Amino acid sequence: MISSKLPDVGTTIFTTMSQLAAETGALNLSQGFPDFDGPDALREAVGRHVMSGHNQYAPMTGLPQLREQIAGKVARLYGRRVDAATEVTVTPGATQAIFCAIQAVVRPGDEVIVFDPCYDSYDPAVRLAGGACIHLPLALPDFAIDWQRLADSIGPRTRMIVLNTPHNPSGALIGTEDLDRLAALVRGRDLYLLSDEVYEHLVFDGREHASVLRHEELYQRAFVVSSFGKTYHVTGWKTGYVVAPAPLTAELRKIHQYVSFTGVTPLQWALADYMLAHPEHVQELPAFYQAKRDLFCDLLAGSRFAFTRAAGTYFQLADYSAIRPELDDVTMAEWLTREHGVAAIPISVFYQQPPEGLRLVRFCFAKREETLREAAQRLCAI
Ligand code: PMP
Ligand code: GLN
Repeated sequence: MISSKLPDVGTTIFTTMSQLAAETGALNLSQGFPDFDGPDALREAVGRHVMSGHNQYAPMTGLPQLREQIAGKVARLYGRRVDAATEVTVTPGATQAIFCAIQAVVRPGDEVIVFDPCYDSYDPAVRLAGGACIHLPLALPDFAIDWQRLADSIGPRTRMIVLNTPHNPSGALIGTEDLDRLAALVRGRDLYLLSDEVYEHLVFDGREHASVLRHEELYQRAFVVSSFGKTYHVTGWKTGYVVAPAPLTAELRKIHQYVSFTGVTPLQWALADYMLAHPEHVQELPAFYQAKRDLFCDLLAGSRFAFTRAAGTYFQLADYSAIRPELDDVTMAEWLTREHGVAAIPISVFYQQPPEGLRLVRFCFAKREETLREAAQRLCAI
């Protein structure tokens, strides 16, 4: 028998719930992906580049034209001038970027602080690097950082802190003042920041995304990760990037070049073309997704679910205490899928120690209007 390096890891909840949705024919509001396509011009560009011979390896660091577009966006949106040659790396998905950043700095015996509920890929990556995650619960009901607890948890073995804003699964945002507090806590310490900002453009109600890229002091120790999959409605393209100061980027690339070497060439060409021609796409995203959130929430107001509207991401949490309080959230998500034809994601799976009595499920509202209407109708009938 092989001795597993990750004995307690099973199949991810996203795969499990999407499979159950497919088997039962339920509307799939579980795993986060749109049920509509990315822009025509973007998809057409892929075909063009495939047909015009852009089919061999892209440079290890990513296509220069795409790295330039990323650097341009970072300057426009966050006021930071980054060097596309030494600070930007294109990766096959944000997941790979996260993995490489963790492998680049975490050593055996190191500790990495993550905030629960946390995205499922951080902890296994830390363990494979020989480190251990310290899971700090975000304070309910707002999923806010408990600053005292964070301060108490930082010690000589802390090598990394993982931030995720806008936050999956809660939709919560951190603010600029949070970044200042964090900077004060880590000042003078030998530790790094991994800032998972894959939902950077999905911030609602006129709020601004508090990117670590805006924060001079924190950026100097940060890997900032984003995903074209989320931004351009093409999660299946698995293309993302990391922005980090040159010395950190150099270490990250040492790993990246042996994990995948590079990303898919024609996709990078298409993204570079589209970013150049359509800088307005990212400006329009907040309103686009806010309208979907509002449609879904307005319709859900007629249900027995309780919720506060997500501040960011394309996920809406809903409390089902008034419906089936006796069910834990994993059972509830299954029941919703099987009995009511709407698949959702339970939240407890993102915790090391789920809070007592948590009765929340996550719905993805990156869906066409008709899907959201049908799902809401089913949920209102419960
Ligand atoms: N981080 C978070 C918080 C996510 O929700 C996702 C979504 N899949 C990822 C990382 C991974 O992004 P990608 O699909 O580009 O690997
Ligand atoms: N990030 C997506 C979500 O939260 C899922 C990505 C995956 O399936 N690995 O639903």
